[in-house]
Amino acid sequence: MPSDTSTNLYDLTRPALGALLSGWGFGPYHRDQLWTALYRRHATTFDELDGLKPELLRMLREHTRLGQLATHHESFSSDGFTHKLLLRLDDGQTIETVLMRFKGRATVCISTQAGCAMGCVFCATGQMGLSRHLTPGEIVGQILHVNRILRASGETLRNVVLMGMGEPLHNYEHTMSAVDVLVDALGLAMGPRFITLSTVGVVPGIRRLADEERPIHLAVSLHGATDAERAALVPAGRRWPLDELMDACRYYSEKRKRRIFFEWTLISGRNDTAEHAHTLGLLLRGMDAHVNVIPLNPTVGYDGGPSRPESVRAFQDVLTSYDVPSTVRQRRGIDIDAGCGQLKATVERRSRRSLPTSA
Ligand code: SAH
Ligand code: SF4
Repeated sequence: MPSDTSTNLYDLTRPALGALLSGWGFGPYHRDQLWTALYRRHATTFDELDGLKPELLRMLREHTRLGQLATHHESFSSDGFTHKLLLRLDDGQTIETVLMRFKGRATVCISTQAGCAMGCVFCATGQMGLSRHLTPGEIVGQILHVNRILRASGETLRNVVLMGMGEPLHNYEHTMSAVDVLVDALGLAMGPRFITLSTVGVVPGIRRLADEERPIHLAVSLHGATDAERAALVPAGRRWPLDELMDACRYYSEKRKRRIFFEWTLISGRNDTAEHAHTLGLLLRGMDAHVNVIPLNPTVGYDGGPSRPESVRAFQDVLTSYDVPSTVRQRRGIDIDAGCGQLKATVERRSRRSLPTSA
């Protein structure tokens, strides 16, 4: 029987799996046979790994496990497009994964940490604090979980956004190992261009991403275009001020020859006036940038509200005057707490309420 400390096979990239197997005397042929069984034939148990050499299967049973994520709670938006899952990890932690199906193109929003250490004031995940980093297998596991749901209705996954719970660049190694598994040509073979990583602005991580060969998209959460305004919403802004952040973004954009997406959560009266838009326009003018404006999804721990539609339009008009393109991203499934961390917060509040109070 595999022990609790056994290796989760989904934690391993193909080269890492090769290293494990070669230590047992099995070469690349066996590695690739196992890899395709996991990611092409979708085996989820050792019994389904038929066709492998019996000695290899025995070693796998003894030393490894196939860690699956269980559905702890799920809900569907009233428009039917959004399916929000709260998935349970082996240690009982829960994380959010959101599946959005729109016009036959499925997108999944996945988590990279249980909680988050960055403390953005309006974010339900930030309000929880960090429990722990996810392992690569727990990040990949979210994709495998939604793939099973999609396969049942003959759909396929197209886009992956790392915009769920947590800060991906605070969990750099595990996140990148997971990305390497997702794009591996012999397995899930997802297009790197259909993967977007969103960061709060971890400068060393952005520079490292620029230096490595992973052609995924980068989105940077700004929410403020002066250090003081940004830091009031995003405490990480004190650690990595805007001049350092924008330098890193320019470095990324030049090195990777890529457009950067900037996210701006619009909060009524806080960061949605014409003046805020002018400051942002000046900051991004001349860059290969695209702004995604997202009206705030209100959270229990923050008293701000979303901008009115006319303020959103006026904000965009000012950006256009600086030749900065923008798109409004409505958070789909607002009725099911589809903002980052919100379902978990709601489910936990509910279960606390239903628990008997101790004397
Ligand atoms: N930690 C990363 C990725 C996860 S958050 C980051 O901060 O970029 C993904 C996006 O959702 C971020 O732009 C974040 O600011 C935004 N967001 C978080 N909570 C929100 C809320 N309640 N309403 C609107 N946008 C929110
Ligand atoms: Fe963390 Fe992103 Fe939420 Fe900020 S917005 S607390 S970085 S998950």
